[in-house]
Amino acid sequence: MLVITKLIDVFELKNRINIEKKSLGFVPTMGALHNGHISLVLNSIKENDYTIASIFVNPTQFNNKTDLLNYPRTVDKDIEILEKAGCDFVFIPDLNEMYPEEDTRIFDFDGLDEVMEGKHRPGHFNGVAQIVTKLFEAVKPDRAYFGRKDFQQAAIINFLVKKYMPEFNIKIITCDIVREKDGLALSSRNILLTPEHRKAAPIIFKTLNLFSKVYSDIKPQKIIEKVTNEINAVELLKVEYFEIVDNETLMPVNEIIPGKTTGCIAVFAGNVRLIDNISF
Ligand code: AMP
Repeated sequence: MLVITKLIDVFELKNRINIEKKSLGFVPTMGALHNGHISLVLNSIKENDYTIASIFVNPTQFNNKTDLLNYPRTVDKDIEILEKAGCDFVFIPDLNEMYPEEDTRIFDFDGLDEVMEGKHRPGHFNGVAQIVTKLFEAVKPDRAYFGRKDFQQAAIINFLVKKYMPEFNIKIITCDIVREKDGLALSSRNILLTPEHRKAAPIIFKTLNLFSKVYSDIKPQKIIEKVTNEINAVELLKVEYFEIVDNETLMPVNEIIPGKTTGCIAVFAGNVRLIDNISF
């Protein structure tokens, strides 16, 4: 696997791939890789001639300085994991490479960023868009792979490529959530959990799963109340929000339409903020 650190080398690589008339799949990450990330890489390997991953902890998407400082960084291990998975290239730029000067661009997501994560992490999705557009402009992939775990992010990236870079013709592929055996969604932040919080955390998905199965005769508002109360009853967990939204507009729904509605949750397990979601 080739490790690349400079944008100019990514441009050059893409030119060579174009000359070969081969396809390129792209998996952007912030590192501290786990099997969730690897599932994206494996999907890309399956569907493209070449796969490139990136590792960059993007400061502009962190609205909380401590969260940015504490974000796990395991680059050497990440390179080993990607190599083993069969990834062809990894792009690991430094801060100056991606932000030689302040990025002042403001994106408009037609309200998609005003709910849930966007509401609780102001500026987060604008920062995501800043880095993703820079990466897409360099890599120019045929397909880019994102996890359904970041449900709102996937919707916003889809909107972003259509509105801001249609000429790039990048197909966004959203991949299933990979979970631990006990149901906890894999996350780079899981390693920051204390043993007690780690033990409590699977209750999040267990509760979502339970209530997603009894939707037919219960109104969304009632499910929201029940899920929130059930999780908050666990002393170590605190729900920040739980919303049941339309898959396209991300707006709260008054009625659950199977296949078109998703329950999205953010929960604090001590200092660690976990997100998860479930399709209804
Ligand atoms: P991150 O490194 O957290 O920015 O995540 C990079 C990509 O991996 C994003 O598209 C995430 O949605 C995806 N991802 C993170 N966790 C999981 C998971 N448990 N299952 C599937 N995809 C995931």
